[in-house]
Amino acid sequence: MRHPRLILKPGHDRPVRRHHPWIFSGAVAELEGRIEDGEIIDVYSSDREWLARGYLNRRSQIIVRLLTWNPEEAIDESFWERRIDRALAARHLLRLDEITDAYRLVYAESDWIPGLLVDRYRDFLVIQSLTLGIERRKELLVRILTERCRPTGIYERSDLDVRAKEGLPPADGVRHGEIPPERIVIREHGYLFRVDIRHGQKTGFYLDQRENRRRVAPYLAGARVLNAFSYTGAFAVYALAAGAESVVNLDTSAEALADAAANVQLNGFPASRFENVEGDAFRVLRQFRASGRRFQAVILDPPKFAFVQAHLERAARGYKDINLQALHLLESGGILVTFSCSGLVSADLFQKIVFAAAEDADREVQILERLGQAPDHPVRLSFPEGEYLKGLICRVW
Ligand code: SAH
Repeated sequence: MRHPRLILKPGHDRPVRRHHPWIFSGAVAELEGRIEDGEIIDVYSSDREWLARGYLNRRSQIIVRLLTWNPEEAIDESFWERRIDRALAARHLLRLDEITDAYRLVYAESDWIPGLLVDRYRDFLVIQSLTLGIERRKELLVRILTERCRPTGIYERSDLDVRAKEGLPPADGVRHGEIPPERIVIREHGYLFRVDIRHGQKTGFYLDQRENRRRVAPYLAGARVLNAFSYTGAFAVYALAAGAESVVNLDTSAEALADAAANVQLNGFPASRFENVEGDAFRVLRQFRASGRRFQAVILDPPKFAFVQAHLERAARGYKDINLQALHLLESGGILVTFSCSGLVSADLFQKIVFAAAEDADREVQILERLGQAPDHPVRLSFPEGEYLKGLICRVW
């Protein structure tokens, strides 16, 4: 097989040799041959050694996403089948079916399928196509997923800003089978949650927090808990099940809070044990402090603050502020559960930020557990960017 060739500038071959899947446009010396964006290209070092093969998009700063480092491997239908089968086999190994009916089936670069996310919610699949290379092969990928998983329907939620960087407009809708119902009720570790596949955040549910919800729960027994950035209250349900006295869900999204109330009820807990507060956490936490409201546990699971390196400092200030406010609300001996889902904020930096907040709050903080993303969001050693979620369970004095 012969493909058009991309020649790297001298000294830019090392990440490719180490199987990092991205080639930035700045690393390119020249493109040889006629090629359309989205098509397959062979990547060569500056001294014309074949290195890898991937799909091209000149509109993106990531000009090539690499698919294989084997010169004999063609990017044909069976290639995509093998890649999807490899991702499915990994989930099978995790025995996810025993603990949940909602999980990530394909995690893009980390599953060697750059640009494609697939989440399963019971008998529906939700896909997100993030790149032109995937967009061009979407029908094929939907066909393979249909054959392998036999879902009732496949719904696309490619309503993501990152697509603009690839020159793609947002897209959503049914791609196979039936329209998903208004809410799908999923079961995670025995608890039930309503998920809105069509309009919810991300693909409907924060699957990456599954194991963390389970690990945090025992620390919340008997506590008055503040669940800040609650979304649909998944942490709240685990907390109530573990014997928390009460939980306050705090979020800016009225829709998410309505589902949070429904989820509490769905799992059989009385409305008297929980409360919803709609508002901006940065403001509401200050109001709680001013009015003397205190908690025995605070969970902080904010959205991504850092999208680009240039905003890292501002993001760090945001994390520090929210942690500082949370520390002010905690009784002595209380539990702080704090997360960052910004990939640009390393676990080490995050710990330093929480330390800075503890210093300002004049509190002593003990780390009891370090948390990460659930194993259906694996991390490829050759693609550390795939690791984004980090958290700490802390005791605060
Ligand atoms: N812990 C949740 C996921 C949280 S996602 C779970 O386990 O399901 C982050 C949430 O923060 C989203 O629901 C979003 O609506 C909310 N949010 C974003 N900015 C906010 C703000 N300034 N104050 C309060 N909530 C906010």
